[in-house]
Amino acid sequence: MPGNTSPLAIIKSRAQQGIEAIPVDIEVHLSLGLPCITVVGLPEKAVKESKERVRSAILNSGFEFPARKIIINLAPADLPKEGGRFDLAIAIGILAASGQIPLPSTKNIEFAGELALDGSLRAIPAALPFAFHTQKSGRQLILPASNSNEAVLIENLDCKIANHLLEICEHLSGKSQLRSPEKKPMQINLKIQADFSEVKGQIQAKRALEIAATGHHNILFVGPPGTGKSMLASRVTGILPPLLQEEALEVATIASIRGRPRRPEQFYERPFRSPHHTASPISLIGGGSTPKPGELSLAHHGVLFLDELPEFGRSVLEVMREPLETGSVSISRANAHVSFPAKVQLIAAMNPCPCGYATSKLKACTCSPQQIDRYRNRLSGPLLDRIDLHLHVPEIDQETLLSHDKSESSEIIQARVIKARNIQIARQGKPNALLTPQELAVFCALSADDQSWLSQVMSRLKLSARSFHRLLKVSRTIADLAEDPDIKQIHLAEAISLRERKLGG
Ligand SMILES: [Zn+2]
Repeated sequence: MPGNTSPLAIIKSRAQQGIEAIPVDIEVHLSLGLPCITVVGLPEKAVKESKERVRSAILNSGFEFPARKIIINLAPADLPKEGGRFDLAIAIGILAASGQIPLPSTKNIEFAGELALDGSLRAIPAALPFAFHTQKSGRQLILPASNSNEAVLIENLDCKIANHLLEICEHLSGKSQLRSPEKKPMQINLKIQADFSEVKGQIQAKRALEIAATGHHNILFVGPPGTGKSMLASRVTGILPPLLQEEALEVATIASIRGRPRRPEQFYERPFRSPHHTASPISLIGGGSTPKPGELSLAHHGVLFLDELPEFGRSVLEVMREPLETGSVSISRANAHVSFPAKVQLIAAMNPCPCGYATSKLKACTCSPQQIDRYRNRLSGPLLDRIDLHLHVPEIDQETLLSHDKSESSEIIQARVIKARNIQIARQGKPNALLTPQELAVFCALSADDQSWLSQVMSRLKLSARSFHRLLKVSRTIADLAEDPDIKQIHLAEAISLRERKLGG
């Protein structure tokens, strides 16, 4: 080993916590003593295994593994660290401390990557938040080539990619140059697989979904099996406005943390998640020893579809209540507290009764009134309070089913939705569903005549104050779709037809 090199190398990397990528210094110290390698600084099992991978990778890349006492410290020590993402930084630290690559060349660079035994590099999960924070720090990032798709999403990032440890060492030694990831143009036009034109009939349900998409309203479909409730719901992302740049980056970050990066062609597409009713609370809201985002966060800025809503079980629905209200999930662990964003639009569907046919014109319901009550009572009041639109979806008659009439395409509906959504953003900076009671007074004022008409209707229908707020928000959205600056009686009347009512009634 050359005598003029420092036996201490400090290499920069990042740990993943929530949606953050927190700086970690990898200190590698070589000293006299029996050859051994010790990793300190609260490493998880995978980090401990890392030393075996690093040793093989260094040897198989044609370098010498120093016959010294090697201490590797991951600082700060109190931060939980997971995965093989530090392999590359540890290997670079050992090579720099032992003088096999020049230490000064590692300055102002952050390293991320897992090593295979032959020295080749493997992708790490959560590369996107890592790249985002490296860019903010002004340093260069060296990353496995297989993480390129995530790196190119960050504007103005100084990034180099490699497939093998040796390539990086030659780059740092000035023998050759690493390449930058290739930027591909991001596609804004969404590829819509499932189109609204394929859904026959169900004019009212489609209209309700258009209103929901426009004002970001949560919606509940109630109807017998086979009426196309899921078919309708699964097409909603095709009529929603595309993600804004910042939203798209947040969505991609969450997908990256889950280790399932979004494809570039779906970058601007709103996510659609439909967890099954047997899903565990952890899979819905997230968790684990190193907390990972759950379904609610994967649906961030998109749609969470809960089919067979009453089957979800009260405790599970209860767990989701707070995130649905606050738009974020908090997870506490002994050594960490993290939160993940979860701003979702909820679309729920349910049968009117356990057998499914309480509202059917084709089949008789076999449920007792008690069974029906028990079924409907599984939904808590606070959850139903979050839902602005309640819609009965009837069976489609034979004639409509067999007709060859093509209805409107998703593209045409989406154009209306975007136009009306832009009106809301220009007026109040947010979609109508998110208006506060104070804002309602400003943006949803009614004429004196309409006010008194609505009061009469409300007392006749026995509607609560909360339903009144919901009615105003939905009416505002309907008026926006009609490009009407004022809410009129016709808008109120349509909103009343989409209100919560006795299920199946
Ligand atoms: Zn029934």
